[in-house]
Amino acid sequence: MKCDKIRNIIKTDYIDNELDDLSKAEIERHIDSCNECRRFLQELKNTSINPLRNLQPSEKPDYIWNLVRDRVERREAPRISLLIFPRLAYAVAIIFLFFTMGLFYHRFYKPDMTYESAGGYIEEHARLLADLSGSDSDSVNFDTRIERFFL
Ligand SMILES: [Zn+2]
Repeated sequence: MKCDKIRNIIKTDYIDNELDDLSKAEIERHIDSCNECRRFLQELKNTSINPLRNLQPSEKPDYIWNLVRDRVERREAPRISLLIFPRLAYAVAIIFLFFTMGLFYHRFYKPDMTYESAGGYIEEHARLLADLSGSDSDSVNFDTRIERFFL
């Protein structure tokens, strides 16, 4: 095996102790016989492995945990209001919509009006409008209070 390939294995599977016994023995035989690869392994241990091996998990002071808790709680606070208020807004909007639809239904829906009677209704109003615009006001007299006031 070439030294480049050996060193790739040294810095990965060998250093992680992931090799099977046969491969491990082969790598160690090469390390014993090759000064460059032995130096490479020692350098790797000195710079990348040993400094980390003695690290202890550090205790975080209380104020760090308080900051973390504050941020978590602050992030949860608006989520709660976003869940409640849009539902309330939707409910109000839907009630308002049904109320408005009900008003229009009662104002304009005439269940006894057929296509023919609707035509007659429109014709009647068209005739009335024609009378109002085509003649002077004396010929149209509804005898309402407002007419009596002005005429
Ligand atoms: Zn070598």
